[in-house]
Amino acid sequence: MKTATNKTKFIFVTGGVVSSLGKGTIAASIARLLKNSKNKVFLQKIDPYLNVDPGTISPAQHGEVFVTQDGAETDLDIGHYERMTNVELNKYSNITAGKIYSRLIEDERQGKFLGQTVQVIPHLSSSIVNAILGTVEKKDYDYMIVEIGGTVGDIELDPFIEALREIGLLLDKKQVLYIHTVLLPYLPITKELKTKPAQHSTRTLNQQGIHPNFIMCRSSVPIEKELLSKIAFFCNIKKENVFACEDAKSIYHVPLFLENQDIMLKIYNHFKVRKPVAEFKDFNNIISFIDNDKTKKIKIVLVGKYTESSDTYLSICESIKHSGFAAEVNVELKMVNSDSINEENIGEIISSHYGVIIPGGFGDRGIDGKIIAIKHCRENNIPILGICLGMQLMAVEFARNVLNLKNANSTEFDAHTQYPIINILEECDDKKVGHGGTLRLGNFNCEIKSDTQAFKIYNNNNITERHRHRYEFNNDFREQFEDNGLVCSGINTENQLVEILELPKNNFFIGCQFHPEFKSRPNTPSPLFYGLIEIVKKQNHLKE
Ligand code: GLN
Repeated sequence: MKTATNKTKFIFVTGGVVSSLGKGTIAASIARLLKNSKNKVFLQKIDPYLNVDPGTISPAQHGEVFVTQDGAETDLDIGHYERMTNVELNKYSNITAGKIYSRLIEDERQGKFLGQTVQVIPHLSSSIVNAILGTVEKKDYDYMIVEIGGTVGDIELDPFIEALREIGLLLDKKQVLYIHTVLLPYLPITKELKTKPAQHSTRTLNQQGIHPNFIMCRSSVPIEKELLSKIAFFCNIKKENVFACEDAKSIYHVPLFLENQDIMLKIYNHFKVRKPVAEFKDFNNIISFIDNDKTKKIKIVLVGKYTESSDTYLSICESIKHSGFAAEVNVELKMVNSDSINEENIGEIISSHYGVIIPGGFGDRGIDGKIIAIKHCRENNIPILGICLGMQLMAVEFARNVLNLKNANSTEFDAHTQYPIINILEECDDKKVGHGGTLRLGNFNCEIKSDTQAFKIYNNNNITERHRHRYEFNNDFREQFEDNGLVCSGINTENQLVEILELPKNNFFIGCQFHPEFKSRPNTPSPLFYGLIEIVKKQNHLKE
């Protein structure tokens, strides 16, 4: 088993009472505050499910899959971490039970345990310890923030909590801080917040050998000081270490909300480190953008497949907000299920004042509605951004309705189409290479042609963006497309893959094979989203 590795300090964030408490936002906010004092931080999310990564889980169940620069398919919390801290994370940022178990069983099959009985404790728990401590090995991180997914008390979480307990023993006391996040439910009938579930959850954690140093109390209404003291008393921790964490106006308000309760001083005191000077300018700018009363409103319609929860398209939703901050407009996002779209209602759904986004996706459900939306935007010069599948469908629509290639399609939806406008990438063919983690993933370069809309938007000939796809634009059709006005303005020159398509005759009809949403940050919005928002703002202004 690994022992104390270096001087990296660990902050573990657990959750109790319910899931979806916003532990990720709390972990990211603390990381951001640490980074404001020039500390080198790294973040990690541990998910107790048995999938090796979330790439194979339906977004309707688990939300978006966030892709890191090195091509890992990770939990959406990694996106929160990157956006909040502006630290580029990697495949070590997301560990799942599936990853740990499969490696352990592989080792067992290779005889690495030399006749031992392989057990949850100590073998599984020490694999988890090694995965956490191994991440900081040979790295110079000052702080590593580790968020444990799920809810304390869940059976599947037990080996992970045990690993956190063991790390507390292995490392110096001054190197580990445990933060437990709990919910205080509000009872509208008696108009009070209840603390009992928080007490029980903390007791469960205590029984597993962990005594949290801090408790974060989430609630939908402001929390009285007496209530925090009550929780401190019953959970056996100092009252100044119980924090109120009420619903905030935006996630970007959370770091300062916590800092107003002196969280950093308390963290540094715990680690016996003198509190360094912190720089808040960047962050204050973001907050003032958000708080600034914006008079101008614009509407963006997202035509997607899973529109019940915004988690499915989380990074896109955040990217739109970032661009709205910079363009000083209030962006209202309307999610439309593409299944509900038809030729008759499209005019009502997408007015000429709006901007449209067709996000990425897999599988043929909802494709027809998206194609109808694309056609409507193309014919009426309505600004539209197609992302990954969105770009592929823009190409299919153009082939069918402008090039008159009847039944043109992507081979994802019609393997035998006469006009395979979008084709499978050989090396990603899941029939040959299997399903999990076999897409074209992560950072790839794109060369942008000068004198194109894409060039104006990026103001650069060379960009790098993140990818997650199996299919590509079929170069056999490139000439035919370009002869008819659809320009391939961005190309990956190493593999001759089309990365950006645009229709110069429209104000904004742009598709990208990559996912620009993964690189958007609150104070540096993604150029493509910003470009879209600016065009919509300008068009609305002219129509006023
Ligand atoms: N299903 C398409 C592909 O695999 C698009 C993927 C996506 O939108 N992320 O190429």
